Amino acid sequence: MPFTLVHERWKCIGCNACVAVSPEHWEMADDGKSDIKESTHKNVPEGILEELDIKEPGPDKDAEEACPVSCIHIKQRDPTNVPNSAQSRLIQEHSGKN
Ligand code: SF4
Repeated sequence: MPFTLVHERWKCIGCNACVAVSPEHWEMADDGKSDIKESTHKNVPEGILEELDIKEPGPDKDAEEACPVSCIHIKQRDPTNVPNSAQSRLIQEHSGKN
């Protein structure tokens, strides 16, 4: 099942936890926040939303759980999957026409 790794970058406080547990996909940027390596960037009203398609949650699941401000999300790309969290709905809205 393919997944998409999502980063609500505007919430990031630069604690480095994601880089520590998943250095393959995460790096710290010059502005003190983290970035998903080789991700796409979307401008949403709150800031920058980064996304990267991944095959397995792997260490990024640990990053999602370790993030103190809950700005990392892993969503399944199965179209039959119905998101049920407020955060998933927020991300879906930003990925749409808004
Ligand atoms: S764990 Fe969360 S707050 Fe910390 S650097 Fe990564 S994305 Fe930012």
